[in-house]
Amino acid sequence: MNAVTPATPELTAAERDRILAKTALFNPPPITTADGRRELVGLSREELAAEMVAMGEKPFRAKQLWHWIYHQGVTDFAAMSSIAGPMRAALAERFVVGRPQATEVQTSSDETRKWLFRWRDGQEVETVYIPDRHADRGAVCISTQVGCTLSCRFCHTGTQKLVRNLGAAEIVGQFMAARDSYAEWPSPKDDQPRLLSTIVVMGMGEPLYNYENTAKALRIIMDGEGIGLSRRRITLSTSGVVPMMDRCGEELGVNLAVSLHAVTDELRNEIVPLNRKYPIRELLDACRRYPGASNARRITFEYVMLRGVNDSEAEARELVRLLAGLPAKINLIPFNPWPGSPYQTSTHEQTARFAAILNDAGYSSPIRRPRGRDILAACGQLKTESERERKAAG
Ligand code: SAH
Ligand code: SF4
Repeated sequence: MNAVTPATPELTAAERDRILAKTALFNPPPITTADGRRELVGLSREELAAEMVAMGEKPFRAKQLWHWIYHQGVTDFAAMSSIAGPMRAALAERFVVGRPQATEVQTSSDETRKWLFRWRDGQEVETVYIPDRHADRGAVCISTQVGCTLSCRFCHTGTQKLVRNLGAAEIVGQFMAARDSYAEWPSPKDDQPRLLSTIVVMGMGEPLYNYENTAKALRIIMDGEGIGLSRRRITLSTSGVVPMMDRCGEELGVNLAVSLHAVTDELRNEIVPLNRKYPIRELLDACRRYPGASNARRITFEYVMLRGVNDSEAEARELVRLLAGLPAKINLIPFNPWPGSPYQTSTHEQTARFAAILNDAGYSSPIRRPRGRDILAACGQLKTESERERKAAG
């Protein structure tokens, strides 16, 4: 078994603070409407209570509001029947409970649905719902940034420069709007079936380069008196922002997926350029330290199958060697093409040979069936027109 390098606490903390300070520069301002009303979605319980106190109400009102917003899914204060009329009116004067505007909704021949959501400043992201094909459940794939600072060679989002981070309201708002679309309010109990049963933080952007907003949003989503999806139903995917991984595990405890895609630093440097900063060994050490990683809660490694690039049998054997001792599952993702993309997906036979080597070594290694390719909704195909500085029309 490979030895695990312990994290160097001072170094990690310094690097983490540097990342947090730098990424905060891309945060959106608090959301207010043109007439100055403030968005309530995305506020923490404490912030909501502080807003109530500021308007001369008791803090417990926040609990009632929370219930209406996140359990009932209500957006109109007038429908909040447990709150007296005058207070509902006072709330409506000061606040809104909003949703992003769905400017485009497409449904694939395989029932995958994709929304193009627009925020008040005109920026747009995509969100995808992937229904399970044999059951009444499915995953909502949410975005955390408009564009991405990283530029993985096989990823469409990576060709869109980072415009800005999404705020907590916008991250939670994607899920809430998806629920509106399937009429799944009030929030079902944890043991009841639900169409939107899991969340994968695998849309546009690198969530660990927008950690604070993502964490705040996920805490709201996991709150048992609201949406109530447990951490076991949430998977966050990272391309390997090592200094933030420990914190994600300790504070959120969600399932972790890691976009590995190569077994040598030489190749990973090229196709996942973040590897130049955090090479494979450091990344796998962070995985070994990830709190809660166990056989029951394995770390998912994502491996995009690129024909003739990373799909040889020797590479499959090296992958087995690298993952020794790690409770892991490997998702083999056929490469999803996009306009101008530089790769081809591996042949089915080669993917099956690759999978067989992993299976023989005891790893579950499902070959993902591409979903929603016809509407560019599959992994790595998301992109919007938003640009950092919009060119003047005409
Ligand atoms: N930024 C995060 C999460 C978003 S990407 C990350 O990189 O992990 C979600 C997954 O889709 C990642 O594993 C990513 O590597 C993979 N992916 C990107 N482009 C792809 C493509 N064209 N075909 C298949 N998978 C792709
Ligand atoms: Fe960004 Fe993830 Fe795409 Fe890489 S794969 S460019 S990290 S969204």
